[in-house]
Amino acid sequence: MPDSRPRRTFAVISHPDAGKSTLTEALALHARVITEAGAVHGKGGRRATVSDWMDMEKARGISITSAALQFVYRDHVVNLVDTPGHSDFSEDTYRVLSAVDSAVMLVDAGKGLEPQTLKLFKVCALRGIPVITVINKWDRPGLAALELMDLIEQKIKLRPTPLTWPVGEAGDFRGVLDRRTGEFVKYTRTAGGATRAPEKRMPAGEVDEADRPVWQDAVEEHELLEADGADHDQELFLAGTTTPVMFASALQNFGVAQLLDLLLDLAPAPHATPGVDGSVREVEDEFSAFVFKVQSGMNAAHRDRLAYARVVSGTFERGMVVTHATTGKPFATKYAQAVFGRELSSIEEASPGDIIGLVNAQALRVGDTVYVGEPIEFPPVPSFAPEHFMAASAADVGRFKQFRKGIEQLDQEGVVQVLRSDLRGDQSPVLAAVGPMQFEVVQERMTNEFNSPIRLSRVDYSVARRTDAEGAAALAGGRGTEVLQRSDGTYLALFVDQWRASATARDNPDVMLEELPAGG
Ligand code: GDP
Repeated sequence: MPDSRPRRTFAVISHPDAGKSTLTEALALHARVITEAGAVHGKGGRRATVSDWMDMEKARGISITSAALQFVYRDHVVNLVDTPGHSDFSEDTYRVLSAVDSAVMLVDAGKGLEPQTLKLFKVCALRGIPVITVINKWDRPGLAALELMDLIEQKIKLRPTPLTWPVGEAGDFRGVLDRRTGEFVKYTRTAGGATRAPEKRMPAGEVDEADRPVWQDAVEEHELLEADGADHDQELFLAGTTTPVMFASALQNFGVAQLLDLLLDLAPAPHATPGVDGSVREVEDEFSAFVFKVQSGMNAAHRDRLAYARVVSGTFERGMVVTHATTGKPFATKYAQAVFGRELSSIEEASPGDIIGLVNAQALRVGDTVYVGEPIEFPPVPSFAPEHFMAASAADVGRFKQFRKGIEQLDQEGVVQVLRSDLRGDQSPVLAAVGPMQFEVVQERMTNEFNSPIRLSRVDYSVARRTDAEGAAALAGGRGTEVLQRSDGTYLALFVDQWRASATARDNPDVMLEELPAGG
């Protein structure tokens, strides 16, 4: 029997240190975890992670790989897809967002909207992913609640529609006013935040004497918001015009159950997805899924390639033979995995919204579709504007064959974008990345997996624009500019800086120079 429980599939977008790991653990504490997929990365002696399969990850204590955590709450199955979080982030972080139906934007109350949050938000906006905002760390001194609302409105142009409103300013957290019911959700501080739900609901009339003055402040601000029309509207939320906001303290477990309720009540369920030819796959149609991440080298002993796919329609059953849309060839799913990271365990079934890991996925690339029955091909996962560029060459010229093979493989996996030109030849392609850590992954894998250590040398570009063959010809030899070609055929014009890019566009009005999505 297929598992027909409703699904919610979401990701948390945040800047490092906003509390994503803390929140993930708190969510897991409130719900019943079905599979733990290494979404929690252990820091400071907390519960250890299961996704530290790479030496580099171990050394840094961070999670580079994307993974998912699946749990049950109120008879729903919730999939939390991890966005690898680090100050450097990579295209993987963005790509994960193609696999979710909504995002939780986690904001540190003391810091407001930070750069990485903004970048990830842009990708959500681009993909039309509705965003729920959680203001975290309200137990600590921070910005005023109204000020945070202004920041959201100004910086990301989303209209905040608070569902709860804090009682007591940041650092003097008494609880929240539930704007939908008018109740006081009182926060009861417990040693170390060890309880599951330190929350007590009461009608306005029962608010303690001691909390009365701050409660009154909250009521007044709530009325201000009401007069301003800042109330939740489901349609506007789904359309990406507004963002419901709630206040929480992940560390104290406050607001965690509220967030889960919110996800179930407001966040969209998996929905029909259009293919490139305009046909639409309904969730109840035959099985289909698309690959949003590919990973190799998880086990040094036997080289393996795992493709992470999000189920779009139908029921996935292990052992199913699916068709790979790009090649039209069959692909056997005998060893499909539910758990990512080191502790792989096979799954029997998955429903729309779930994430599956397909092993031996040599032929599968990021963006590929697999299906059963009626053919379908979903649009490719967009690649993002690289901002970091390095020329790569084999450290040992005698190993050029391995070098070429490795670079090709990493290009296919989408570990890094590989840019080539006749001028540079095969010996020295330019590697382009969204985050500098992608280069470290390349170094590590070229050395350990392909036996060809590489030399990376900085090339002095920081801006990329999309152009075409005519543009490539027109810009050839220009100062502070170089045109290279990506393996998907796209021409990228690289510029030393923004100024040079703008000047070139001004001087060459007929040349196509398009900005690439997100990334900066
Ligand atoms: P991540 O980098 O986003 O995964 O952030 P972490 O979950 O590792 O949290 C970063 C730091 O903030 C840790 O020291 C946490 O204990 C702390 N932290 C997270 N949530 C809260 C919160 O709600 N209140 C307070 N006071 N600290 C928090």
